[in-house]
Amino acid sequence: MRVVLVGPPGAGKGTQAQFIASHLSIPKISTGDIFRANVSGGTELGKLAKEYMDRGDLVPDEVTVAMVRDRLSEDDAQEGFLLDGFPRNVPQAEVLKKMLAEFGTGLDVVLNLVVEDDEVVRRLAGRRTCRSCGKVWHVVFDPPTVEGVCDACGGELFQRDDDREETIRRRLEVYQEQTAPLISFYADEGILQGVDATGPVEEITQRAMSALRRFAD
Ligand code: ADP
Ligand code: ADP
Repeated sequence: MRVVLVGPPGAGKGTQAQFIASHLSIPKISTGDIFRANVSGGTELGKLAKEYMDRGDLVPDEVTVAMVRDRLSEDDAQEGFLLDGFPRNVPQAEVLKKMLAEFGTGLDVVLNLVVEDDEVVRRLAGRRTCRSCGKVWHVVFDPPTVEGVCDACGGELFQRDDDREETIRRRLEVYQEQTAPLISFYADEGILQGVDATGPVEEITQRAMSALRRFAD
């Protein structure tokens, strides 16, 4: 299956993406994770992306699209994929549609994770990420056993630079202006499914899987 996850920053896209991708045996492709790996690896792409990420703005489309094109051309993405964080605006969605048409295929479904604003801010403000394995925790909603230490790998947890209050505000504005229009774009394409993304993580995964099954039939 070829699936896109959309939703505001902090909706739980990354959290859900890992479970959904593993249920469907498809790779999870997160543009945010790829940018962050480039930032910590000190690559040219990372240096360029960091400037935008730290402000809470989108990295320019041509850079992002080229990166996604490369990733979707890899062998493991030929039978399906779950995109998390891409597309992020209507021009990216249009390019993705063309790109997949060139590959002779298209998206099956777009899951829209629906969460109210206050909850999104609570989730972002308490998010902690593992420096070693990238696993995401939350200081209140999903705390590790030992504060600041990843249960999965023993790595150090840190707060993303863009999860600070001022940048959070900017990212939410960018979401409203640029990303939210994707909802009607994909509704018009007839492939949008809303998923209530409040409540326990496992329940949300079950809702997402039910929505996907409706499209798989
Ligand atoms: P996104 O990728 O959409 O930005 P994340 O998956 O990183 O969102 O989740 C944002 C924060 O919210 C993380 O700290 C995560 O642990 C927490 N979180 C994710 N799902 C839930 C949930 N269902 N209830 C409470 N907190 C959640
Ligand atoms: P979140 O999990 O909070 O939704 P991401 O990890 O997806 O955030 O993205 C972090 C940052 O990386 C974004 O604020 C943006 O600067 C950059 N980024 C990620 N995906 C894209 C994209 N598709 N287009 C442009 N910039 C992106």
